[in-house]
Amino acid sequence: MLIDLKDKVAIVTGAGRGIGNEIARTLASEGAIVVVTDIRQELLDEVAAEWQRNGWAGLQLLCDVRKAEDNRAVAAEVERAFGRIDILVNNAGVAGGARVEELSEEVWDLNMDINLKGTFLMCQAVIPTMKRQQSGRILNASSFAAIIPSIGGAAYAASKSGVEAFTRVLAGELGPFDITVNCYAPGMIPTGMNRFAERNDVDKGRLLDTLTLRRWGSPKDVAQLICFLSSDLASYITGTMIDVSGGKFATQMPWAAHRPG
Ligand code: NAP
Repeated sequence: MLIDLKDKVAIVTGAGRGIGNEIARTLASEGAIVVVTDIRQELLDEVAAEWQRNGWAGLQLLCDVRKAEDNRAVAAEVERAFGRIDILVNNAGVAGGARVEELSEEVWDLNMDINLKGTFLMCQAVIPTMKRQQSGRILNASSFAAIIPSIGGAAYAASKSGVEAFTRVLAGELGPFDITVNCYAPGMIPTGMNRFAERNDVDKGRLLDTLTLRRWGSPKDVAQLICFLSSDLASYITGTMIDVSGGKFATQMPWAAHRPG
């Protein structure tokens, strides 16, 4: 069995760095035409250089997912350049927070606007193309926080729970067009967003104690799931959330299996 993504046209949002960057790189190295969007031009310039070095097809486009006009412009440019949109990965996200009493409206809005509204707007921008094609794969970044939220993470968890519900509704609406819509929950992957790598050893140990496999995940772990879900092999999977989290809280105390005796 082979995952064949050759010449599929993919858009990955917020892919200038972190997990999205690795998703874009992995899709491109599998032969997909990958359009990388981000809000920082300097990151897009680095991506452009890498694509050029490797001879990969694609585009690098500035896009703030909060802005409907940015998302529409990306979809229009991709359709103009490549004639289709096969895969959309709504990866862009932020995770700021505070305990509810101290949580500012700005931080609440930022989480909602980027994580949830950004996902909605980008989907809205590509749906007409995917409907015309009668095919498409939409993959939305959710989080384990949508299943078990963290203290201080109300805005983030609410936004990601929203992504999960939104995913199921959209899967229902697009089922008749053979477009699948799924979300995925990465964890725990040290990136600039969570700075896990910079925590002290005690904190790191506590975080790892929640994982069945008791080791950090890598962006590649997520990228490989995305490749599968983007492929024809996953054509009967829709409306679901898949966690790629090393078995986070698969049991109540996963650490118990890692202690001697
Ligand atoms: P990251 O390293 O911070 O990457 C997020 C990317 O999104 C950055 O390039 C960021 O740009 C970009 N971005 C932020 N606001 C944007 C906007 N308005 N429009 C377009 N792009 C924007 O985070 P990550 O850890 O790779 O996370 C990627 C996704 O996975 C997120 O949706 C996150 O919630 C989800 N996730 C990650 C983990 C994990 O363990 N890392 C766990 C659960 C869920 P800047 O560089 O300017 O910030």
